[in-house]
Amino acid sequence: MAFAISANQLRRDGKPVTSLPSPYTGGALPSPTRFLAMHFTYGASARSSAEWFQSKDNPGSSAHLVIDRDGSVIQCVRFDKVAWHAGKSTWRGLSGLNHHSIGIELANWGPLHLAGGEWKSHTGVTIAHPHIAKHKNGNPNGENCPIGWEPYPPVQFQVAAEIARLLVKTYGVEEIVGHDDISAGWKWDTGPAFDMAHFRSLVFGGRADNDGVGLTVDVAEGLNLRTGPGTTFPVLRLLPAGTLVEPIERDGRWLGVSVLNAQGQPSQTGWVHDHYLS
Ligand SMILES: [Zn+2]
Repeated sequence: MAFAISANQLRRDGKPVTSLPSPYTGGALPSPTRFLAMHFTYGASARSSAEWFQSKDNPGSSAHLVIDRDGSVIQCVRFDKVAWHAGKSTWRGLSGLNHHSIGIELANWGPLHLAGGEWKSHTGVTIAHPHIAKHKNGNPNGENCPIGWEPYPPVQFQVAAEIARLLVKTYGVEEIVGHDDISAGWKWDTGPAFDMAHFRSLVFGGRADNDGVGLTVDVAEGLNLRTGPGTTFPVLRLLPAGTLVEPIERDGRWLGVSVLNAQGQPSQTGWVHDHYLS
């Protein structure tokens, strides 16, 4: 599956992906577009959500793309236009992230509830093997215990990562955020079933088959971890050869990374030059 972007439309294997244009769009997005915001739909299929983005009953929400559980993709808004996916949101000192981000929706039921011993969607669909976890910002129902979440199928995750890599290259996206990052406390997508660290690593690490372990410092004398993307930023510490890092964001040749300790747990964040990673 080869994706490309031409005239702000996504193409797959040489043909435009299915287009169900939403009337709910704003003005032009700035170039570069700094952020990619990831969402789940709470819905049955990509098509049902894309049709909702076209509906007269819809109060005005939309997103650029919806990716289905089987990896099929529908485009609803051109990439150079504002879509209405983020609502009230703040990040990195900015508010109203619709004006600074491309929005991708993943077909997914999100939080589940127990009924008759089974985990079910809000519409009553049984999810046989849910991801059981507590949301990092607290669960939507206010309960402080692990609950079921619909897992994201690997093909959906991989397609999203492939498209995200293309958006980074085409629009200069610097950082990927969840709706639950930029609207923390009132939005729960993409939720705990979405492995954001792995996703960022796939996108910014640039490897299609990455298993989530990240990149390794590959220079005998070690690599400086700095506070920002450039040699003018102070050095936090020297990372010895062999240190594992997970990319979080990119600024040119500089990668914002999470440094993993010997147990593979994130221990510190900072910036490194990507020339010395493999
Ligand atoms: Zn959302």
